[in-house]
Amino acid sequence: MKKERAASCIDAFEADAISVDDARKTIFTKIIPIKETEKLAIRDCLKRHLAYQVISPIDVPPHTNSAMDGYAIAGIDLPTNEAKVYKVSGASFAGIPSSEKYQAGSVIRIMTGGVMPAGTDTVIPQELTEVLDGKCIKIEAEHKIGQNVRHPGEDLIKGSKIFSPGRRLSAADIGILASLGIGEIKVKRRPRVAFFSTGDELRSIGDDLKEGEIYDSNRYTLFAMLKNLDVEILDLGVIPDTQEDITKAFINASENADLFISTGGVSVGEADFIKPTLKALGNTHFWKIAVKPGRPLTFGDVNKRWFFGLPGNPVAVMVTFLQFVQPAIKYLASGIIKKPITLKAKCNEDIYKRPGRTEYLRGVFEQTATGEFEVKRTGKQGSGILMSMSLANCFIHMPNDSSGVQAGDSVEIQPFTNVI
Ligand code: AMP
Ligand code: MG
Repeated sequence: MKKERAASCIDAFEADAISVDDARKTIFTKIIPIKETEKLAIRDCLKRHLAYQVISPIDVPPHTNSAMDGYAIAGIDLPTNEAKVYKVSGASFAGIPSSEKYQAGSVIRIMTGGVMPAGTDTVIPQELTEVLDGKCIKIEAEHKIGQNVRHPGEDLIKGSKIFSPGRRLSAADIGILASLGIGEIKVKRRPRVAFFSTGDELRSIGDDLKEGEIYDSNRYTLFAMLKNLDVEILDLGVIPDTQEDITKAFINASENADLFISTGGVSVGEADFIKPTLKALGNTHFWKIAVKPGRPLTFGDVNKRWFFGLPGNPVAVMVTFLQFVQPAIKYLASGIIKKPITLKAKCNEDIYKRPGRTEYLRGVFEQTATGEFEVKRTGKQGSGILMSMSLANCFIHMPNDSSGVQAGDSVEIQPFTNVI
C-alpha cells in the first residue's frame, strides 16, 4: 500500500504539482494585460506594444512609378518583331515628374521612383537599351507590357488594417509607420517589474566570502533577462530570511510594480518565508509545477500585482523565468499569447527520464551538412550548474509522459533565439 506522507518538495511526483500546461493556462487566465497607454514619437517605439489598430491613411506608394532606371513607354508601342529606334523626349525623376507629354514613337527617360508619365505603362531598363546619339535609343523586341512598374497601394492600401493592437514594433514596422506619414503613435505603458533575492548566505560582489556564503548571481541573470524584454526594472536587492523583511519586500514590490519576482526560499525549509507571506498578503494560484528544474514555483498576486516566487538554484531561476515568467510579462505587456517556435532534432545520446514531469534540459544543437538538426546535452545538468545554461543554445523539451530517449531518437528543442 502507498504510504501517506506530507507534501514535500523533495518528492518528485506530488499530486499537488500541476502540469506545465495547466500552469501556463492559470497564468494567462489570471493576469490582466496593461491597459494604460502613452503617445510617443515613432523613433521611441522600438519593441513597444501598439495600443490600437493602425489603419493606412494613404496608398503606399501613392502613385504609379518606375522600379528601375530606364525609359518609360506605352506597352502597345513596344517593338514586336525586331529592334526599333525611339526618340528620348523629357525625363521623370523621383520627386520631379516629367513635364513632357508622352507620344508614340518616343520614350521618356525615367529614374527609379519617378512617376510614370500619363500614357506610359512599361519601363525598359537602361542596361537593355543602346544609346545611339544621346537623343535616340534602340530597344530590342523582347519586352513585356507592364514590366518594371510599381503600382499605387502595392505595399499598403489606403484604409487597410496594418498593425493590430498589442503588436511589438520592429524596425520594419517603424519604417512602415513613417512611410504612412505617421509620426506619433499610442503604445501601451511598459510593465514595471521588481525583483529581489532571498537568502542569508548571499553576498554582494565586492564583499569577502565567509564560510558558507556565495555571491548573489540570480539578481544579475534576472536583470539581464528583463533587459531583453524592455520593461521598467526595479532591483530591490537581497532580502534577509526573516518574516518581517520578506513581508516588507512584498509590500514595497506590490505597491511599486505590476509584477514582482523573488528567488530562493520557496521550498519548505525553516528559512522559507515566501509561501506564508503570499498567503498572508494575497492569493496563491499555484505553488508547485511538475517540472524539472524548478518544481517549487509559486504564482500568486497581491492586489493584482502578479508575483512569481522562483526557486533559488541559478539554473532553475533561468528555466522557470524563461518558461513561465517571460511569457507572463509578454502577455502583461501586449495582451497576446505567443508560443515559442520549436524544432525537431536528432538526439545524439541516450537520455534517461522518469515520466510524470516535464524536463527542460540544456542542449547544444547544430545543423549537419545534410541540413538536419542534431542535439546533445551541455554536460552536467544540476540545477546549480549555471555553466550548463551558459554553454547551451537551446532547451531540450522532454514532455511529461516521456520516459527518455535513445541516441538517434528525435526530440523537440527550443532554440534560445526563440525564447531568450
Ligand atoms: P533556496 O531555494 O533558498 O533553498 O536556495 C536553493 C539554492 O540556491 C541554495 O544552494 C542557495 O544558496 C542557492 N541560491 C539561492 N539564491 C541564490 C542567488 N541569489 N544567487 C545564487 N545562488 C542562490
Ligand atoms: Mg534560501
